[in-house]
Amino acid sequence: MARYKQPVGSVNMDTSDTWSDKMLQEATSRQAKPKPELSVVIPVYNEEENIERLYDKLVAALTELGKTWEAVFIDDGSTDRSFEELEKLSLRDERIKIVQFVRNYGQTAALSAGIDHSLGKIIIPMDADLQNDPADIRSLLNKMDEGYDVVSGWRKNRQDEFFTRLIPSWTANKIISVISGVRLHDYGCSLKAYRRDVIKNIRLYGEMHRFVPIYASWQGAKVAEIPVNHFARQFGQSKYGLSRTFKVVLDLITVKFMSSYFTKPIYVFGTAGIASIGFAFAGFAWMLVLKFCYDTTFIETPLPVLVAMCFMVGIQLILMGLLAEILMRTYHESQGKRIYAVATRLNTPPPRDEVSLED
Ligand code: UDP
Ligand code: MG
Repeated sequence: MARYKQPVGSVNMDTSDTWSDKMLQEATSRQAKPKPELSVVIPVYNEEENIERLYDKLVAALTELGKTWEAVFIDDGSTDRSFEELEKLSLRDERIKIVQFVRNYGQTAALSAGIDHSLGKIIIPMDADLQNDPADIRSLLNKMDEGYDVVSGWRKNRQDEFFTRLIPSWTANKIISVISGVRLHDYGCSLKAYRRDVIKNIRLYGEMHRFVPIYASWQGAKVAEIPVNHFARQFGQSKYGLSRTFKVVLDLITVKFMSSYFTKPIYVFGTAGIASIGFAFAGFAWMLVLKFCYDTTFIETPLPVLVAMCFMVGIQLILMGLLAEILMRTYHESQGKRIYAVATRLNTPPPRDEVSLED
């Protein structure tokens, strides 16, 4: 087992020689080793009793497939014996890779790290809690062979709490489908399969791992969904409750904003600003009408306050839109990012200053 331990205090700085040497070795050995066909990515947060059982099921399912594979487990700051359990597996089996976080960052960050550390052409995220069935990987891959880039699992017989999980999830899935235009029954299912090409440039924030099929689809990926098994949790506890629904809705607003207005934020802020100033003028006109036609003085109505507020809010919104424009331009220009994604180029190379996004 190769251990790459980052010294405490050097989270973002390569201060120790041995650390950078090891990183170099790792990078070289990564290139030297043949890449597996499949990478299963599994976030783990306090799942000590599930790990060994999951490993057995995983090995059984993947061996039957006859493909080369690796499993990247991310220990997301577990406080139980999960890491020790994972370490045991990694000593036994080289295909088991472990990344341990210094603290709990959440499932999205864990998934992101897993994708960053994986090598397979196809990436299959999955939960560590035995609620997903590794045997379904075969059906996901079969569907992919039909020409899809993303195949999402659909927990048709989901075994979770009815009121706190199933109903909010059903509602959220409907809203997400309508807003994103990518129609899936079950965004929340972790078990999915992605071609690396379609997700390698996607950066995830918040609770956004569920939106990866949407991002991928916006970049031209073909997305499909198939029913998968789902079992009730036997060991350990779910890490989520009702509060997640609100986070998902907020994330969705962000995603929608990013997709539709990221390169033109002034349209959103500016439109709201102009509407607000419009209200202010309308209110002012009404004030004059009241004063001169109906003998009602300004201070007899709440209109002066409303007009002043709408006017100020309108100006603020427009200024915020301008700030957002500056931020957006800095984001794109400082990183050489384009406002478009190219599918194919014929008889023309990429522009010289384009950042290489290849592996
Ligand atoms: N998980 C994680 N970090 C967290 C919360 C959860 O890595 O902060 C992992 C957890 O160990 C499990 C997966 O994410 O493998 C899904 O979590 P859970 O089963 O609690 O979610 P549910 O199935 O109830 O939606
Ligand atoms: Mg679960």
